[in-house]
Amino acid sequence: MTETANVVIIGSGPAGWTAAIYAARANLAPVLFEGPQPGGQLTITTDVENYPGFPEGIMGPELMQRFRDQAARFGTQIHSENVVSVDLKSGAPFSVRSAEREVCAHTVIISTGASAKLLNLPDEGAFMGHGLSACATCDGFFFKNKHVFVVGGGDSAAEEANFLTRYASKVTLVHRRDSLRASKIMQDRVLANPKVSARWNSEILEYLGTPGQRLRGARMRDTQTGVIEDVTVDGIFLAIGHVPNTEMFRGQLTMDAKGYLQTTPGRAATELPGVFACGDVQDSYYRQAITAAGSGCMAALEAERYLEAVGH
Ligand code: NAP
Repeated sequence: MTETANVVIIGSGPAGWTAAIYAARANLAPVLFEGPQPGGQLTITTDVENYPGFPEGIMGPELMQRFRDQAARFGTQIHSENVVSVDLKSGAPFSVRSAEREVCAHTVIISTGASAKLLNLPDEGAFMGHGLSACATCDGFFFKNKHVFVVGGGDSAAEEANFLTRYASKVTLVHRRDSLRASKIMQDRVLANPKVSARWNSEILEYLGTPGQRLRGARMRDTQTGVIEDVTVDGIFLAIGHVPNTEMFRGQLTMDAKGYLQTTPGRAATELPGVFACGDVQDSYYRQAITAAGSGCMAALEAERYLEAVGH
């Protein structure tokens, strides 16, 4: 079945839903594909306490349900489907396909987000939000006076370890090698922090605890000696990098070396007229729900102006 649309939005995190709300209120009848993780990364966290407007905090999944309800209220057509291919190169109207349909879109807003790299260990999903996290800014607050691990050796791990010392009584940086990849200044800062210690040459083999309820530790292996040890810890933060969800656009849009889409600085426009990008798919720096939502608004306003300019 082939349909046409003024605006097709791919992805349903804060950026996608905000783009939908703005486009719908501009009477553009947007079509949104929710994708493989409806609601995006916020659905794998618990309380969100830094999203303005919710002084008591709100659960991540509930916040995203509210975004969705607001977009639906103004007439967004929502497809709970994965986009399997897009043709941007042939120009507008752009073909966006799921297994169920093809939509020919006058504009496309890409908000496919990024995914935190995980260790791919058993029960990882069930421990998420129950002692396991991939976002110190989101979840650090819940580890007041606790002992936490931060896994990784890059700038993110160094930054998250430092950040977590605001709450945790003890932070152990767990790295698979014996030297950090992080920049010198970040290394110096984190290793000088009296609350931080490093556990070198260490990898996690298994999460310990009750999946879906509470993590209580990890089975660790020394990568040099092979010695295995069960260690008790209150929380584990993974900081081993993120990957933008851009595979589908490879060869069609310019990306940086890590695969993030490139937009005009300060704008949501990609190099293809009528194609816009917002949220984490084009932002490796801030990666916050509120910044993603802001860029979703920008993308919708730009799509609206573009459509007006080309006479749609
Ligand atoms: P990154 O530089 O790619 O570092 C990832 C770290 O995780 C590495 O130390 C890596 O170990 C480790 N790792 C990866 N896969 C692993 C696995 N399966 N098991 C165990 N460890 C694993 O990622 P990032 O730290 O997120 O940084 C991304 C980019 O953002 C970098 O360019 C960074 O400079 C930048 N950044 C900058 C700032 C800042 O300037 N304030 C803050 C955050 C990020 P190995 O070292 O052994 O490969």
